[in-house]
Amino acid sequence: MSDHRAVAHTHPNGPHPQALPAALLDLLGEGVALFDAQGRCCVAGAPLAALLGCAPETLPGRTLAELLPELPPPDHALLCGALEGHPAALTWHDQARERWLELRATPLPAGGLLCVRDISAERQAELLAARAVERAAQIQTITAALACALTPDEVAGVIVSQAAQAMGAAAGIVALADPDGAALDILAVTGYPDSLIEQYRHLPLVPGTPLTDTALTREPVLIESRAAAAERYPLLAGSHALIELHAWANLPLLLEERLLGVIEISFSTPRRFSSEDRTFLTTLAQQCTQALERARLYAAEREARANAERAAQRTARLQEVTATLAEALTPTEVAATVVQQGVAALGARAGSLALLDPTGATLEVLGAVGYPPELLEGWRCFSVQQTSLLADAVRRGELLLLESPEQRDVRYPGSLRTIAADQAWAAVPLLVEGRAVGGLGLSFAQAQRFSEEDVQFMHTLAQQCAQALERARLYEEAQQARARAERAADRTLRLQQVAAALSEALTPAQVGAVVVEQGMQALGAQVGNVSLLSVDGLRLELLHQIGYSPEELARTWPMPLDQPSPMADTLRAGMLVFVESTDWVAQRYPVPPGWRPTSASVVLAPLTIEGRPIGGMSLGFKEPRLFSDGDRVFVQALAQQAAQAIERARLYEVERAARAEAEAALGVREIFFSVAAHELKTPLTSLLGQAQLFQRRAQREGSLSERDSRSLALVIDQALRLSRMVSALLDISRIDQGRLSIERQPLDLGALVRRVVDEVEPTLDKHRLHFELAGAPLLVGGDALRLEQVLQNLLNNAIKYSPLGGTVLVRAGRQGDRVLVAVADEGIGIPTEALPKLFTRFYRAANVEDSSVSGLGIGLYVVREIIALHGGEVTIESVEGQGSTFTVVLPALV
Ligand code: ADP
Repeated sequence: MSDHRAVAHTHPNGPHPQALPAALLDLLGEGVALFDAQGRCCVAGAPLAALLGCAPETLPGRTLAELLPELPPPDHALLCGALEGHPAALTWHDQARERWLELRATPLPAGGLLCVRDISAERQAELLAARAVERAAQIQTITAALACALTPDEVAGVIVSQAAQAMGAAAGIVALADPDGAALDILAVTGYPDSLIEQYRHLPLVPGTPLTDTALTREPVLIESRAAAAERYPLLAGSHALIELHAWANLPLLLEERLLGVIEISFSTPRRFSSEDRTFLTTLAQQCTQALERARLYAAEREARANAERAAQRTARLQEVTATLAEALTPTEVAATVVQQGVAALGARAGSLALLDPTGATLEVLGAVGYPPELLEGWRCFSVQQTSLLADAVRRGELLLLESPEQRDVRYPGSLRTIAADQAWAAVPLLVEGRAVGGLGLSFAQAQRFSEEDVQFMHTLAQQCAQALERARLYEEAQQARARAERAADRTLRLQQVAAALSEALTPAQVGAVVVEQGMQALGAQVGNVSLLSVDGLRLELLHQIGYSPEELARTWPMPLDQPSPMADTLRAGMLVFVESTDWVAQRYPVPPGWRPTSASVVLAPLTIEGRPIGGMSLGFKEPRLFSDGDRVFVQALAQQAAQAIERARLYEVERAARAEAEAALGVREIFFSVAAHELKTPLTSLLGQAQLFQRRAQREGSLSERDSRSLALVIDQALRLSRMVSALLDISRIDQGRLSIERQPLDLGALVRRVVDEVEPTLDKHRLHFELAGAPLLVGGDALRLEQVLQNLLNNAIKYSPLGGTVLVRAGRQGDRVLVAVADEGIGIPTEALPKLFTRFYRAANVEDSSVSGLGIGLYVVREIIALHGGEVTIESVEGQGSTFTVVLPALV
């Protein structure tokens, strides 16, 4: 200040000591002081003294620097400018007293005026307002950043970074409460060393740390200094030493009373948390809460959408599975489809499908993907009692899940074989009518949380699989049934062929060939034979064979039946024997050293007729084989047919031999007949001729007694009879040799009949003979002698077979272009059954066989031949016991 200006000051010797009475200054609201030109205080009001913290009377005489020693020197210089005529004003932050002062210096004549005002309150308000604006801006920034954060991780990241920035914090943590509220899991961290965070990554919710206390009490925990921290959390003091932190703010994240988590903001200097800080932190926590909830909802929505998409995909996949399975015809195809689709749909690494074998004790792996071959090799079959997830699922008939190796270790402590890299497993049983027939197992490379849909999908897949397997089983059964039916039909056809072939086989050897060939073809045998029992029944003799080596043949046949052998036993038992493996033979029967069976399996069948063995057949196969019921039925039928055909062939042979013999015998007889008849005929003719001559002479001379005459008549009668018989025999021999012939001439049959009737009639005593002739002449073209023979024969028979007498009626007449002669008697008649055979030579009806009426049974035979040679026929009508009528019909001549 310059001293040439005269201004009021407090010096008692100043130019204007009362220029402004101090009392006036006391009245002013602000601290005011007057300075002289030298810059010393002349007068000062009480308010200034109060502001400066000293008594008013001590002020006069002091310079500005003495009055405000803490004021920085540049400010002093500025204010002193007023003494030079430059007004000045400034705001000073009095840090020692924590206040803001406004200082104004106004030039006055010979001095200056200093006004001091405490503006702390205004200043505070301004600062607060500014800070509020800043915080609002920060909150906005955070809100904007959070709007982009879609996952809880991102939210937490935004919170810790932004909060740290906004509040000048050194570190931050966001931790979330786990679903069951038993622990806090750290989600995002900034500013802490990893080593420390590792310890707290998963914090069980027990009191004792700022984080857990905040979560448990749901109230903020604010710690403003290390001392406060040490007091409240003595145990944590050590960890705090690791980093330079001095204050901590922990806030609960609460959503409608529900604790989502906790945030912690830490500071590198001690800090008093002002109410604005608290408000800011609360807002931050709310924002964080909402952002987390939004992220959760977003995640839930995304998961729901993903689930929906997955569900749609799975539906599509199931449809695909259904379509593929519909075409899968074998269990193996079904297994392949199900395992592949199951693995793909559930995102599994590997899968396998196993079925229970018929005993229900063993699971057989039918299809697998994703497992190393060496593992599968040792695992094709395993007991259903084994400790494994799949076996358990099948045994219990329920779906079993292991979502992590921990779950596995809890459920199967140390005992479950799994591929080390896998982290989760599922096994679902395949149920048919509530009964497990197998199971599907899946292994996952990642730990899983199987959703409701996953489980549903597995069930559906298993259900489809079970149905498809059942279908495949039925299909296979149907196929087998069809194959069986076809085989049966084939066999039936073959048996028919065999029957047809056998019907043409005339000898046992031919039968043997047919049987061996057809039997081998039908069963696919490599060797076969049929052998027959020898006449003495002690051996089997080979009838036909195919495929045996000469040594085998030489060794085997003839086969003695008194030594043990499979065939000998087969014949004894009379039953089929099926040897499915010839080891069996070597075990039961003595076999030559070094014996090697021709066949690995054999069928042996006895050939029997009405239970009596006549031989045996056998078919041999290179491979051991099982024989079906169809095989057995076929072999049985073949053996039966063979036996019958052999028997038939044998009978046929016997019959043929007999016939040949008979024919030979017949030939001899015929020769005998012909020779004998000729040889007999000559002496007989001469005998008869002489006898008749003798009779005529005696009758003429009357030289014979009555008795001798009767004897002679008898001789002649018997000679005649004998002659007729010889003639008949001669005729037969002629007929047999085709030498019977007739000489046809026109003749009157009526006259011929009359003549014969007239000749016969006188010889009758018991019988009456009537002749009726209708129309004459009855001309025919014929051999008179032969026709007479016919008539005589018929008349003789009529008389002979009416032993009690009676009338014999002979009628001759014409009927159209035919001439008829009928001889009717009232004799014994002819049994109906004898009628068709009457013209057979040597045949005599039963009713005459036992009677005394003699005969050879050749007359009618000759009659028919003679009439046949004439182009006519003979018919008979007869009622046994009442009589017979023989009618000869000949073609009329005109
Ligand atoms: P024979 O009279 O020598 O036995 P035939 O050939 O003349 O032989 O007759 C054959 C058979 O026909 C006789 O055995 C007899 O059984 C039967 N027969 C033939 N004529 C008569 C008849 N008139 N009445 C009954 N039976 C007759």
